[in-house]
Amino acid sequence: MSEYLGEYKAVYKAKSACGDILGKAQDGGIVTSMFAYALEAGIIDGAIVAGPGAEPYKPEPMIATTIEELLAARGTKYSISPNMSLIKEATRSYGLDKIGIVGTPCQIQAVRKAQLYPIGLRDVPDKIALAIGIFCMENFPYQGLYQMVEDHCATKIDNVTKMDIGKGKFTVYTERGAHAEIPLKVTHKYEQPACHVCLDYVANMADISTGSVGTPDGWSTVMVRSKAGEAAFQKAVDAGWIVAESMDGVKPGLELVEKLAKTKIDNNRAYLEHRKHEGTLLKPLRSPYI
Ligand code: FAD
Ligand code: SF4
Repeated sequence: MSEYLGEYKAVYKAKSACGDILGKAQDGGIVTSMFAYALEAGIIDGAIVAGPGAEPYKPEPMIATTIEELLAARGTKYSISPNMSLIKEATRSYGLDKIGIVGTPCQIQAVRKAQLYPIGLRDVPDKIALAIGIFCMENFPYQGLYQMVEDHCATKIDNVTKMDIGKGKFTVYTERGAHAEIPLKVTHKYEQPACHVCLDYVANMADISTGSVGTPDGWSTVMVRSKAGEAAFQKAVDAGWIVAESMDGVKPGLELVEKLAKTKIDNNRAYLEHRKHEGTLLKPLRSPYI
């Protein structure tokens, strides 16, 4: 248990053992490999993921029930994908009984809240079989993401083959390799304002949390949190879908994950305090005119 990283049973340096998944995965392809294995093993019968949308890098929540659909959703789209919005449809229209879902830490909080207070979600909560959270420092409204690329990357978003945030930079890749690197101090103004009051970096409430920070390029840091997460991850490793190694001695390691989590949470706590004093956080519930 850590104040900034939440409760977890184990942490690993891991990556997919499947070349087809790794090809277009964001980092170690953990999310896609976990869901692909879980589909094959019957742990889930479908997963809610951020599929490709009508515009480049605009995510569209989708219910994947095949490995091909999971593959189509690989890679990070740095914009909001309201994956929770499909949770009812997954059970009712698709008839799923064991749902996988991937989401940012705030979305995994929403999954857990829905399980505790299933208002309007009757019969849904006990069908969440595997919730995978992705680390998240900040997110962007789609227009902000689009504008950032237009303003600072000297290329059209249609030419972009990958986007990545890491080592203090937002990097945009095209067919020709790394095309533009924007320092994060430039990207801040495009961020979703709600992210500045967010107090979770590593999806503390997920069954499994994963991100790139802490491990070398091409690998992922994986935090196994719940019994369901632990069992599914171990089975995926045993079945040869995922290669997992100890984090001992890995650089920059969990230390960097904790440092970034602390920076995010402490800054956002300070901002929340500031807003409290500004009177913008806790507005009176009653109209002042009554
Ligand atoms: P893949 O196998 O490539 O699969 C990625 C999965 O994530 C797919 O199922 C896809 O549908 C889903 N997905 C993609 N975009 C979204 C989205 N916007 N919302 C919900 N689901 C989505 N990692 C860090 O280490 N540090 C960070 O600060 C950090 N910030 C992030 C900010 C945002 C907004 C997002 C979306 C991700 C961030 N990540 C961060 C996570 C990282 O970019 C990878 O998504 C994560 O490591 C999983 O990689 P993978 O290779 O295992 O996933
Ligand atoms: Fe959600 Fe927090 Fe990430 Fe913003 S920073 S998308 S609120 S988890």
